[in-house]
Amino acid sequence: MNVELKSDWHRRAEALKLPSKAFIDGAYVDALSGETFDCVYPGSGKVIASVAACGPADVDRAVRSARKAFESGAWSRTAPTERKKVLLRFSELLLENREELGLLETLNVGKPITNSTNGDIPSAANCIAWYAEAIDKVYGEVAATSDDMTTLVVREPVGIVAAVVPWNYPLSMAAWKLGPALATGNSVILKPAEQSPFTALRIAQLAIDAGLPAGVLNVLPGLGHVTGKALGLHMDVDCVGFTGSTEVGRYFMQYSGQSNIKRIGLELGGKSPQVVLADCPDLDVAARTVAAGIFSNTGQVCNAGSRLIVEDKIKDKFLEKVLAHANDLKPADPLDPSTKLGSIVSEEQLNRVMSYIEQGLSGGARIIAGGNRVAQETGGFFVEPTVFDGVANNMKIAQEEIFGPVLSAITVRDFDEAMSVANDTIYGLAAGVWTGDLKKAHRAAKAIKAGVVWVNCFDRGSMSVPFGGFKQSGFGRDKSLHAMDKYSDLKAIWINHG
Ligand code: NDP
Repeated sequence: MNVELKSDWHRRAEALKLPSKAFIDGAYVDALSGETFDCVYPGSGKVIASVAACGPADVDRAVRSARKAFESGAWSRTAPTERKKVLLRFSELLLENREELGLLETLNVGKPITNSTNGDIPSAANCIAWYAEAIDKVYGEVAATSDDMTTLVVREPVGIVAAVVPWNYPLSMAAWKLGPALATGNSVILKPAEQSPFTALRIAQLAIDAGLPAGVLNVLPGLGHVTGKALGLHMDVDCVGFTGSTEVGRYFMQYSGQSNIKRIGLELGGKSPQVVLADCPDLDVAARTVAAGIFSNTGQVCNAGSRLIVEDKIKDKFLEKVLAHANDLKPADPLDPSTKLGSIVSEEQLNRVMSYIEQGLSGGARIIAGGNRVAQETGGFFVEPTVFDGVANNMKIAQEEIFGPVLSAITVRDFDEAMSVANDTIYGLAAGVWTGDLKKAHRAAKAIKAGVVWVNCFDRGSMSVPFGGFKQSGFGRDKSLHAMDKYSDLKAIWINHG
C-alpha cells in the first residue's frame, strides 16, 4: 500500500472542514457540557476530529425543539405535495454535494472513496427521493361500516422519531429512517454512531437549505450508552428506528418498557447463509457473488453472507473459485479511487474480527485464505479477506456475527441438511440459494426463515422492496411503503350522520 503517493482525495481530505457540532433547532451548537469525543480515520489510525458529545440535557433540548416544530404544524401538517418538494430538493442537495459527503464518509469509516461517492451517497439520495415521490400517492381508507356511518381509517405521524443508526453505511442507514419518517410528517432526532457522525451532521444544514423547518431534523452525536440511552428512555420520544447489534436492540426494548412504551423498529444483526446446491446453474457467477456477499464493505454488512453452505459434491471445485476472488481482493488505501476493499471501521472492531479468526482456528476450522491483519505500517485497520473451511455450524464463527471479511464454509450432504443448517441460527435477516431446479428454489425460499431470500443472486436491493429480519434479526421493515407504517399511527374516525 503506497500512502506516500498522495491522491487528489488526500489533498481534499486535508483541506476539508470536518463537522463537529451538534445540530439542534436549526443551528450548529456545542454540547451543553462542552464535552467532546474523538473521531479516528481508520485508514491511518489518527484522530482527525473532536465532536460534541451530547448528553441528556442536549437530548432534552433537541426533543423540545422537535416537539415545538411538530406541534406548530410547520412540517407535520403541510400538504404532502409541499413535503415532497422539500424532500426532493434535499435529495438533490445530497447529490450536488456527493463528493464532499463521500469524502466525509470515507474519513469516518474507511470505505473506498469510489464506493462512498458512487454508492452510499447516491443511494441515500435515491431513498429520500423515493419517499418524497411516494408521499402524495398513499391514500387512507373508508371502512365498510353501517349506512348511517362514514368511517375513515387514516394514518397520522407518530410525532418525534429518534433514528439511532450504525457506522457501516452511515448516510444510507440514516436515509432509510429519515425518508419515511420525514415524509410522513414527523420530527426526527438522528443519533449517528460515534465512529461516523460527519455526514449526519453535514446533511442537517442541507435539509434546512432545502426548506425543512428548524427543529424538524436535529442531529445529536454522542456515545450510545449516553445519548442513545437518553433518547430511548425519553418520555417525549414517540418512536425509535434502530439499526445495529441485537444486543443494543434488546436495550431499546427495555428503554421502551421503562418509559412511555414508545414504538421500536429494530433492524439487527445476521449470520446469513449463502447456500450453494450441487445443481447450481453457474458456479463462476455463484463464486463471484458469494465472495462479494461476504467481502463487500469488508464484511461490515448486516446481511453479509457469512456462512457458505455448500453441497459436498461440488465443495472443492466451488471453494477454489471463491478463493480466487478472496485472494484477488487486497485491502488498500481508502482514498485511492482504484481501491476496492477498505479498512475495518475501528481498532476495537479490528480486534474483534481478529479474535474471531483466532477462535475459528482454536475451534478446529482451517484457514484457506487470508487470516491476517495487513498494512500495519499505515496505522490503519486492514484485514485480508479470510475463508475458513471445515466449519461446523455450532462453532462460534458460524453462530456469532463477526462483522468482518470472514467466510465460514460448511459442507452438507443434501438439500434437507442445507435447509436445516441454514435455519440453525438465532438470526433470520437474509439468505441466498443457488440452484437450477425451480422446485428446489421455491422449496428453499419457503423453508428458510429470513426476511429476504435471494435465489441465484445475493444482496440485490430496491427501494420498492421491504428489508428487515425474522427471529433475533429484529422486526419492522425499512424501505418500501411498508416502512411508513413504523412512523405513523392508524386512526379510525367514525362520523355518525344517521
Ligand atoms: P451498536 O449496536 O452498539 O451501535 C448501533 C447504534 O446504537 C450506535 O448509534 C450506537 O452508538 C448506539 N448504541 C450503542 N449502545 C447503546 C446503548 N446502550 N443505548 C442506546 N444506544 C446505543 O453497534 P456497534 O457499533 O457497537 O457494533 C457492534 C456490533 O454490532 C458489530 O460488530 C456488529 O456485529 C453489530 N452491528 C450490526 C449492524 C447492522 O447493520 N445490523 C450495524 C452495526 C453493528 P455508539 O456508536 O455511540 O456506541
